[in-house]
Amino acid sequence: MTNPAIGDARLAQDDHGWKLEVFDGYKWIHAGYTEALANAKLIALEKERDELRHADSERTYTQLLNLRGIFHKDDACEKCGGLGNYTYGSTSTWRGGIGGRAMTSGPCDKCWGSGDKHRAWMSHRKVDAMVKERDAAVTSLHKLAEEVLVMRAAVLEVAAEMALLSGANFHAAPDAVQGWADALREAVGA
Ligand SMILES: [Zn+2]
Repeated sequence: MTNPAIGDARLAQDDHGWKLEVFDGYKWIHAGYTEALANAKLIALEKERDELRHADSERTYTQLLNLRGIFHKDDACEKCGGLGNYTYGSTSTWRGGIGGRAMTSGPCDKCWGSGDKHRAWMSHRKVDAMVKERDAAVTSLHKLAEEVLVMRAAVLEVAAEMALLSGANFHAAPDAVQGWADALREAVGA
């Protein structure tokens, strides 16, 4: 038999007949009619209070979903319940792989924060890959710009030498022309 709870009532028999008893948390005490009635009302009120609390938390949850633009519970993300964040078992959260063992909250990797199972936001994994791709592109662009500057300097150098020789007898300087051609080829890495 389970232990009685405070307010539980029972009928007990003694030499004078049947009487109502109520459990006060420690022992069964004799209860008159008024006490029994009060006890029954208390139990009913407690039940009502619990139901209201449940209904209240349901309503709060629905309101929260509505504020997030989710108007039906079935549309909420199944992983995060529509909240958009999720408690992961490791500090690496949605990245997975190696991380600390502490429980860590992070964006839900199913809806990516929207809370809506039909309308996920941009994946953090995708954004991560895009950022890496962009960084690589910027690096090669900088390298290209440096190469162009080197080529420009070489072209200007050759042009300066040509200008110096323009007044002289051109046919007398075939070696110089060959030198310019070599310098230009070297500048473009040919
Ligand atoms: Zn989610």
